Amino acid sequence: MAGFFVEKNMIERKDLIKNGGFLVIAGPCAIESEEQVYSIATLLHEMGVNVLRGQLWKPRSSPNNFQGVGLAGLPWLQRIKNDFKMLIATELVDKDQIEPTKETVDIPWVGARNMQHFELLKALGNDKTDQRPVILKRGIASTVKEWLQSADYIGRERVILCERGVRTGTDSTRYTLDLNGALVAQHDHGMPVIGDPSHSVGRRDLVPYLSLAIVAAGLDGIVVEVHSQPERALSDADQQITPETFRQVLGQVRAVHKVLVAKEYE
Ligand code: PEP
Ligand code: MN
Repeated sequence: MAGFFVEKNMIERKDLIKNGGFLVIAGPCAIESEEQVYSIATLLHEMGVNVLRGQLWKPRSSPNNFQGVGLAGLPWLQRIKNDFKMLIATELVDKDQIEPTKETVDIPWVGARNMQHFELLKALGNDKTDQRPVILKRGIASTVKEWLQSADYIGRERVILCERGVRTGTDSTRYTLDLNGALVAQHDHGMPVIGDPSHSVGRRDLVPYLSLAIVAAGLDGIVVEVHSQPERALSDADQQITPETFRQVLGQVRAVHKVLVAKEYE
């Protein structure tokens, strides 16, 4: 799980997904203030995390809920990037957001609700000078085939798929992490696939277990919601874990990964 500090302006998927590596992305559900995101980034950086979840826009089920700080938060992310050389992963919810965020955002991502927002996918794929990796989250009721078809709009070679749980017959947790589908995408289609334990299980007490399941399954990475005061978070308060818990989870994830990689190379 070696760190990577990329000097060039635009990183590519091969910089992130390396043979035997494990991509760790962490940060709050949403950026709420400069102080909040800078302090959590400081802690994550100290833990050796080098990709920040820098969520500027929040797609929410209800228009009455916090919608994100939008472009106002971009300079806050740029400051973190400058100070810590962290890479910034940010969800884009509209094609008009691609251009103004391009300098700061290293890894744009498309959220579950926009997996079939075809104009956004096309806009991300159209600029052939843009070789940034794009994280494509799986739609909440999408098949693996549909997920891959959406990846084709962007260009499969740039895409990192993210399994974030699908809606199933059970309502015991927020969604159901479909490791089966993730493994099919990875093994049968040669795609890098990372897992999101936070949105899939929706409960902070279970996030550590799902995190371990993701690494044990041999997926290529993880994206975890971490907040300094989860219970006071403006979004997804139930599922964000504290930096202290994340530190433990990361230690365990790294240990499991080491065992699996060692096995692979025996
Ligand atoms: C997110 O990662 O911030 C998010 C909204 O998740 P999803 O798109 O998977 O629901
Ligand atoms: Mn969230």
